[in-house]
Amino acid sequence: MYRTHTCGELRISNAGQSVTLAGWVQRVRKMGGMTFIDLRDRYGITQLVADENESKEVKAQVEKLGREYVIQASGVVTERQSKNPKIETGDIEIRLSDIRILNASAVPPFTIEDESDGGEDLRARYRYLDLRRGPLKKALLHRHKMAWEVRNYLSSIGFLEIETPYLIKSTPEGARDFVVPSRMNPGQFYALPQSPQTFKQLLMVAGYDKYFQIVRCFRDEDLRADRQPEFTQIDCEMSFVERDDVLDTFEGLIKSLFKNVLGKEFGEPFPRMSYADAMEYYGSDKPDIRFGMKINDVTAKVQGKNFSVFDSAEYAGAICVPGCAGYTRKQIDELTEWVKRPQVGAKGLIWIRNAKEGIKSSIDKFFTPEELSALAQGMGALPGDLILIMAGGKKKTRTALGALRLEMGNRLGLRKNDVFAPLWVCDFPLLEWDDETGRFYAMHHPFTAPKPEDMDKFFSDKKEDLEQVNANAYDFVLNGTEVGGGSIRIHDAKVQERMFQVLGLTREDADYKFGFIINAFKFGAPPHGGIAFGFDRFCALFDGQETIRDYIAFPKNNNGRDVMLDAPSYIEKEQMDELFIKSTAPAASTAPAASAEEGKN
Ligand code: ASP
Repeated sequence: MYRTHTCGELRISNAGQSVTLAGWVQRVRKMGGMTFIDLRDRYGITQLVADENESKEVKAQVEKLGREYVIQASGVVTERQSKNPKIETGDIEIRLSDIRILNASAVPPFTIEDESDGGEDLRARYRYLDLRRGPLKKALLHRHKMAWEVRNYLSSIGFLEIETPYLIKSTPEGARDFVVPSRMNPGQFYALPQSPQTFKQLLMVAGYDKYFQIVRCFRDEDLRADRQPEFTQIDCEMSFVERDDVLDTFEGLIKSLFKNVLGKEFGEPFPRMSYADAMEYYGSDKPDIRFGMKINDVTAKVQGKNFSVFDSAEYAGAICVPGCAGYTRKQIDELTEWVKRPQVGAKGLIWIRNAKEGIKSSIDKFFTPEELSALAQGMGALPGDLILIMAGGKKKTRTALGALRLEMGNRLGLRKNDVFAPLWVCDFPLLEWDDETGRFYAMHHPFTAPKPEDMDKFFSDKKEDLEQVNANAYDFVLNGTEVGGGSIRIHDAKVQERMFQVLGLTREDADYKFGFIINAFKFGAPPHGGIAFGFDRFCALFDGQETIRDYIAFPKNNNGRDVMLDAPSYIEKEQMDELFIKSTAPAASTAPAASAEEGKN
């Protein structure tokens, strides 16, 4: 037997017991005649101690130890002289009676401790060493708990976990597909699924009325920070449901996660907000409702005072920032620069200081103090608040105000990551017009049903009518991050065909790409709907973190590379030929030909 206990297990109550542990040497310290060894495994760290009275063999082995050596150590559990309250085994140590080196280790390229001295890239290259560190272990444990709880909860209410294939047909859902060449079908390609969307709908046609899957999805998107080309979803679908059935079911799931993973009870139903309200009051389709500071439409109130910025604008909106009337000129100038950054894109910022000593603003020339006070009061401003106004096109200005609101929330510490504000956002527009390509795109995906009351408009040929069609779609938003999204689906072949037509697909195109699902709908498709949650992000947010990479054992970097494997990489010419592939990349290259020995086995 390699071990009797783990390195996280022994306590003062074990004092006097003879035990054997196995693990990695985190640190060796010599003090006088004593040698202390921190022995680590997945469960914790236990201190081993050897003193001068140790046998020759033990001494000789201890002398050889280096960082990350794998050892087996036996001895008696003893109460420590100087206890370490920071670790759970900190009251005891093991007095060594025997030690065996199971494997030596090269010197690790960075320190394997909670606070490492290794840079991000170096740690990524040696991910298996990074994974030995405490914070990453904690993150993966947390992920496991979340996955376990999801499976447990959904199974308990009758959902079946069913796997769907990874080699499928390319049916782009918004992003680009990763494709896989087929050797046996020259010139043809599989695609990796962006989500199991069509399969889960086919499972509904097949009668499996409650499906879920914790599943990998692949999207070849231009990478933004903290996006992974492959990521995991909790993918779900149900039959014979309307929107509220879906929301209630998955609110149950989320509440059970809050309760069983975080110990937080949510008695109240999660708030539900329309997309229109989210845009109007928060300038975003994923509002962070941990704090107020809502956007006020002040267009009518500020126009007609001969101030051209307002008078010429389609829209003027304002937020009231609590307690910031004391902002200095310099601070306001800096904020103005902040909103002018291309990411925010505002032209400028108008301010009103609702100070206790009196009201002051950058538009004093055009407004009397009474008018300013009325404006401030209309927004519910209290003495000491700062009002920030922007004007311009409605959509852009609201979005910019939304960004400013979040920034002020950050600056005022109103976005605490241990406070959770869940929210459902509903009633999204079904379609988005793109001027560049002159066509509509599905805002969610082409399988989302229009709201029943908008069906006439959906079959109208007028662009204005189609623009007004709402989707029976919903997003789950947590602390300003979209964590899940879904919809009630189209289950009528005619409506589905109309959808493809609206999206500019010819009948042949639709048949080539989606014939299988249109066909399936002709064989008794039940009404159905579902949702998918971004599992990696869900795990990070639940743990109060923003980066998802720590919650994925082997993630890609920001350029979509696995720096540990050094992938993607060139493949050998023979492999390319076999797949009927020729590269047209500018620096077209293939992997060095395998040497005779390694090539054949
Ligand atoms: N397949 C959708 C997505 O990945 C989710 C859904 O509609 O259920 O966004």
